[in-house]
Parts: sequence; structure tokens; C-alpha cells
Amino acid sequence: MEDCLFCKIIKGEIPSKKIYEDETVYVFEDIAPAAPVHYLLIPKEHICCAKEINEENSKVVAHIFEVISKLSKENESFKDGFRVVNNCGESAGQTVFHLHFHLLAGREFQWPAG
Ligand code: AMP
Ligand code: ZN
Repeated sequence: MEDCLFCKIIKGEIPSKKIYEDETVYVFEDIAPAAPVHYLLIPKEHICCAKEINEENSKVVAHIFEVISKLSKENESFKDGFRVVNNCGESAGQTVFHLHFHLLAGREFQWPAG
């Protein structure tokens, strides 16, 4: 997707602080962290939001959660718990329309989320 911010980050056209990368997933630090650790996990394939997950592309979502598990074991900040967030649609707070999961750790979290 030509005008997609996260597709540009994957291609290296916009700089990012990379945490992890493999064939299908890219992980980088959020530019405006909402917790001491705040990563964004994105599929390399452009999927606009959770509504667009289907039988054909859902493997990458399972893989993203495998990566979350792996990353959570590599950093002390995750040991007491962490939060995974997906905002789908404008009312839910989605501002970048390339599927992404926020991975937050290093502080206490409240529930329900705002
Ligand atoms: P959402 O509001 O769920 O769509 O999340 C989009 C996230 O992307 C926000 O937390 C932003 O801070 C983050 N973001 C926007 N631009 C960049 C960027 N250039 N590099 C890293 N994170 C970004
Ligand atoms: Zn994209």
C-alpha cells in the first residue's frame, strides 16, 4: 500500500526502532509510548484492520502471538504481566489503518480500558 505509514516503515522508507523481524512480522517501538515498554507488532502483508482477518491471512495473527510470547520472555519488564491491544476502527482509537497489536509492559494496567 503506497500511502500506508506502516508499509513504509517495513520498507525502511520511514525510520523505526526495530525490535524484531522475520519473514512475515515486523516489531518496532511506538513513537509515543504509553508504557515503559510499548512495541507495535505488524504483519508485513498490508491488512487494514482486525475486520479484514480471514481464513487466508489469519496465520500471521497466530504468529504475531508466538512472537509476543517470545519477546515477553526476553525482557524483565514483562515478568509481572503485560497487555496486548488492538484498536479496530476510528471509534476504537485506530489511527493507522495497517493491522497492528500494541504490546505494553512495565507498569500496572487498569480495567476496563478507556
Ligand atoms: P492506533 O491508534 O491503535 O492506530 O495506533 C497507532 C500507533 O502508531 C500509535 O500508538 C502511534 O503512537 C504509533 N505511531 C504513529 N506513527 C509512528 C511512527 N512513525 N513510528 C512508530 N510509531 C508510530
Ligand atoms: Zn500497510
